[in-house]
Amino acid sequence: MNYPDLEKLVTRSKLIGADQSLVVYGGGNTSAKGEITDYLGRNRSVLWVKGSGADMAYGEAVDYPALYLDELSALKSQGELDDDTMVDFVTRALVDPSARRPSIETLLHAFLPARHIDHVHADAICALTNHEDGAAAVRDALGEGFAYVEWIRPGFKLSKLVSELKEYQGVVLAHHGLIVWDDDSQKCYAKTLDAVDRAKEFLATLKRKPQAQFAHQDLSKEQIRELLLHLRGKIGKKQILRIDTRLRQISDRQDLDKVVAAGAASADHMLRIRPWSCILTPESVDVAVDSYRARYEAYFEANKNLLPEGYSSHGSDPKLFITPGIGMIAAGATISETKMMADIAFHTHSVGSTVVDSFPKPRTLPDSEIFGFDYWPMELYKLKLKPKAPQMSGNIFIVTGAGSGIGRGIALHLGSLGANLVLADLDPKGLAQTEEEFAAGKFSKPLLVQGDQSDENVVIETLNRTIDNFGGLDGVVLNAGIGVPGPLEELDSSQWRRGLEINLTSSFLLTKHAMRMMRLQGMGGSLVYIASKNAFAPGAGFGGYSVSKAGMIQLMRIAALEGGSIGIRANALNPDAVFDNSKLWEGGIREQRAKEHGVKPEELEDFYAKRNILKARVRSLDVARSVAHLLSDESSRTTGAVIPVDGGVAAGFPR
Ligand SMILES: [Zn+2]
Repeated sequence: MNYPDLEKLVTRSKLIGADQSLVVYGGGNTSAKGEITDYLGRNRSVLWVKGSGADMAYGEAVDYPALYLDELSALKSQGELDDDTMVDFVTRALVDPSARRPSIETLLHAFLPARHIDHVHADAICALTNHEDGAAAVRDALGEGFAYVEWIRPGFKLSKLVSELKEYQGVVLAHHGLIVWDDDSQKCYAKTLDAVDRAKEFLATLKRKPQAQFAHQDLSKEQIRELLLHLRGKIGKKQILRIDTRLRQISDRQDLDKVVAAGAASADHMLRIRPWSCILTPESVDVAVDSYRARYEAYFEANKNLLPEGYSSHGSDPKLFITPGIGMIAAGATISETKMMADIAFHTHSVGSTVVDSFPKPRTLPDSEIFGFDYWPMELYKLKLKPKAPQMSGNIFIVTGAGSGIGRGIALHLGSLGANLVLADLDPKGLAQTEEEFAAGKFSKPLLVQGDQSDENVVIETLNRTIDNFGGLDGVVLNAGIGVPGPLEELDSSQWRRGLEINLTSSFLLTKHAMRMMRLQGMGGSLVYIASKNAFAPGAGFGGYSVSKAGMIQLMRIAALEGGSIGIRANALNPDAVFDNSKLWEGGIREQRAKEHGVKPEELEDFYAKRNILKARVRSLDVARSVAHLLSDESSRTTGAVIPVDGGVAAGFPR
């Protein structure tokens, strides 16, 4: 069915949602009123309003549930409604009972008569009101036509209050945002933009130069990496830490603490980042995190009488850091989550700096109000809409040889478990194809590093880029390798050396540098070596390979011995005869191995399957599942171990 007002609403909301200085990530809400024919064929007036937590930038018609307007209007005669009752009543007015939950601010839209209504959390409007004399600033910026309402949490009371103000052109909600309306959708949008523009123009006339000049030099890349590793270890949580330079001008101000203190009061900041951002310098990581936690715990203790039943502390870890010489560091389980945090913080703290530079008495919300929002079930509902985090969410791993075969299989499996991955390979085409499969699986975008991992510079570069991109490292899968066929009498010494370089020396180099980074980070780690059945049960004519894989097992054992005291575990897997996508069998190796075993090349898979105890073909997924186990805390008491993934080959039993 076609509803022109709903269509206009969706179009207008996308325009609003595209501008983060108006709304960010599900903030704000818009509505339209119109007529529909209900299930009994009656004409009914409805309100379409944005669903709770829906993002205007991407919202479609389905994200704007319809509600019977007469049902909503009838609620106006109620004296008071607590949040739960209000949500219960509002939900009963849904045209489609299975539609997504409408915004907590639904009644505000229902009680105002205009056909189209915009409610945005615009930066410029927040800047007008985040200080002691917001009412005067709103009057000076927007004129007498706009009503000013002191901070009150959204809900029934605010909706009734705003409904009394319908004679105005619009309403400014202190520490919160703007409401404007019109019977025409385009005019409504124009009014939103106009009010925000006027606020910006007014602020521009007030803005003084910050007294404090830039006080900080750029940090070197090496300093930044050390800071990220130190910070990640200090918090002790498997998550990404991402640098974002947008707040650099603010982070370097000498009055940074004042700016940060002025800026916590935005609904989106309170919901996602919690009460405050954390000011951090490379020298103060431990002190800054400790004092943030202490401050949060004191705030929680002081306000816990306001905690709704069934809720406990969110935990006291900071999620967003402002660092002189850098800008921001955002924490999150995925790159997109860190981007969301940084986007919100960018807007919040930009507002804070405008307020500090424009008004003599900046003011944020009192802790009790922030706490009320921090633990408000109505807002926490939005977070509940998020799907449960996958098993390896927040983990950061490197997989070498990820452009084909077992390495690609491992990468895809870890990707499906939500891990953040750095994929290394010599072959750019193979890497590109693995990346395509990541996109097809909708896994987090991996970081690709093309290069020869037997070159120490490439290894260092791989680790550096891992830290630059994700801020830490939880594990490495040392998988890159090549086959080295030929009996010893015929094996060329250059081929022998190349096998050792690629299969063994590269593993040594990666072990060496990964352990160094893990030591700096101080969260332990897991090294998983993809060796081979041949390490224990070598085959004639495959000596170059078998020797390098036996060396890899010994390397693993030394890494386990040396890494144990700092929580680094090292284990190996011995796969056998894994064929899917594998390049190991190319270049004549399949033919050579087949000849060695007295079968035809195309019979080789079957030959290997029949040879093992379980009579099973071994797939890269089988190896990948064991890798995931060894990388995860499920195997936290296992180090120095070798696990065969070979279908059972008695000669290859570990010993
Ligand atoms: Zn709002």
